Amino acid sequence: MSVTPIRLFGDPVLRTPAAPVVDFDAELRQLVADLTETMFEAGGAGLAAPQLGVGLRVFTWFVDGEVGHLVNPDVTPAGEETEEAPEGCLSIPGFRFDCRRHLHVAATGWNMHGEPVRIEGSHLLARAVQHETDHLDGVLFVDRLDDGARAAALAEIQQAEWAGMGAYTPVVKVSPH
Ligand SMILES: [Zn+2]
Repeated sequence: MSVTPIRLFGDPVLRTPAAPVVDFDAELRQLVADLTETMFEAGGAGLAAPQLGVGLRVFTWFVDGEVGHLVNPDVTPAGEETEEAPEGCLSIPGFRFDCRRHLHVAATGWNMHGEPVRIEGSHLLARAVQHETDHLDGVLFVDRLDDGARAAALAEIQQAEWAGMGAYTPVVKVSPH
């Protein structure tokens, strides 16, 4: 496994719809491993393959102590309830904006061994699943904000110290002792 640089807002790969996985092979298992390790290192609740520059429909999540991954996901809202809460993105580091999401979702797909998987989640897991699935369609969470909030968010992001950098490698913060 290896920690892989995370692509930043502005990189075209984040705006490119990802292709379905066809081969459930060693390369896919390596991708899941890289996603998982990079997500842990960056302290994220989820990470999608396009964020590592890979145009495949795969993401990982880490919510409430549970780690998982989903290949070729198909996400359906469960019920009408929505929730607005602060959301962030490892490709837009340092920013959080209130974003409205479905409160409950069900998702089907496959694991890296090609076995069918179904997950149901609420709150943060539901939010992570929606956020990461958006990444696979080239959609970023700031796109989901209301017009005014989105314009304000984009203006803030333009001023980010990392704007135009392209990518960064997450590193563990080691205590000086
Ligand atoms: Zn994200």
